[in-house]
Amino acid sequence: MSLIVAKFGGSSVADAPSVLRVAKRVVEAKNAGNQIVVVVSAMGDTTDELLDLAQQISPNPPGRELDMLLTSGERISMAVLAMAINDLGVEARSYTGSQAGLITDSKHGRARIIDVTPSRILEALNDGAIPIVAGFQGVAQDTKDITTLGRGGSDTTAVALAAALDADVCEIYTDVDGIFSADPRIAPSARQVPRITYDEMMELAAAGAKVLHLRCVEYAKRFDVPIHVRSSFSDKEGTFVIADLEDQSKLVNLSKQGVIMEQPIIAGVAHDLGDAKITVTGVPDRPGTAAAIFQAVADAGINMDMIVQNVSVHGSGQTDVTFTCPRDGVAHAESALRDVQGEIGFEDILTDSNIAKISLVGAGMRSHPGVSANFFKAIADAGVNVEMISTSEIRISVVTRADDAKKTVEAVHTAFGLDADGQAVVYGGTGR
Ligand code: ASP
Ligand code: MG
Repeated sequence: MSLIVAKFGGSSVADAPSVLRVAKRVVEAKNAGNQIVVVVSAMGDTTDELLDLAQQISPNPPGRELDMLLTSGERISMAVLAMAINDLGVEARSYTGSQAGLITDSKHGRARIIDVTPSRILEALNDGAIPIVAGFQGVAQDTKDITTLGRGGSDTTAVALAAALDADVCEIYTDVDGIFSADPRIAPSARQVPRITYDEMMELAAAGAKVLHLRCVEYAKRFDVPIHVRSSFSDKEGTFVIADLEDQSKLVNLSKQGVIMEQPIIAGVAHDLGDAKITVTGVPDRPGTAAAIFQAVADAGINMDMIVQNVSVHGSGQTDVTFTCPRDGVAHAESALRDVQGEIGFEDILTDSNIAKISLVGAGMRSHPGVSANFFKAIADAGVNVEMISTSEIRISVVTRADDAKKTVEAVHTAFGLDADGQAVVYGGTGR
């Protein structure tokens, strides 16, 4: 018998027939002898619709009230799913995030979980009932107000509950079969990855892959909770996200495929069309100017990603600094920089929203030379110009023209043998 936390995303509970289908699936899992705790997102596009509604009422609603409104979406799903399960003859009880013990800080719209005290969930399990928990929400420890965890936050609710309950697995049900080596919509030859590490998944999520919420993976890593990303529309095994591919012991009772020893060097290629590039030109080349630029951007609440500073032309005493940030933050970043232009003494600000960020991610990069060389050769052969580069231990990212995104992803995907019939695997730690 396993203890499973199963999260169903908005597309899995989009309408009444979907809710009935999920109810059957949950009851089957219980009848197979498992204990199951369910976490739900709001039905379909409910959260977006609620946000639109708020916009029509008030241009700048108080965070407390917006959170109160948005959390109602998940309350609808939890109640209707509980009804559907009860009709199948199994007791189900719905709980808001607050009732389920999700305690957060009080930052409305982006609250962080600080404690999980799921006594009512344990009580329901002990009674043989199925607890259904509203995702994406909690209650602030200090103000006792209702909070939300940020868009896509139900994944994090599920992992946090799985950690607190010491569950065997956190299943994330979605509308795709698992994690893919690239977004199948732009790289049709992408294939499903059977296993991936937390570190790879975090890099992919940060690089624009939209399957899992970044914070949920961070949380899973911290508490070593295996995540199983799978489709609610099929019975197929999905992708397991675990700490280390060399130790798959936690999957023994979870995966029909057992231990998979093939370890690709590369986990996948991600692309992100949500960023823009800002170049500050003619920056005086002396200590403190970069700090002043980035302080201004940070004070405006903008997250930067890649940063490049050009070498100053000999004798000019000036340099250019370029960084990327989310597209919707460009105007804000630009005005924050204009405010300090006189003080820092740079010449101008150029913005460019027509960019794509393409990232190659794989834990095998650490131990395999030549990955960068292959990556840049593939991009060059595709005739694509690289505008910026950044790396981490297990990721290489480049900025290209937005129009080149598809071409670049496909070229890189093929070059690393990731295409559906590819062969680029390394067998269990032999270092080949
Ligand atoms: N319903 C929320 C959203 O759309 C939370 C979630 O789906 O995880 O962002
Ligand atoms: Mg959603």
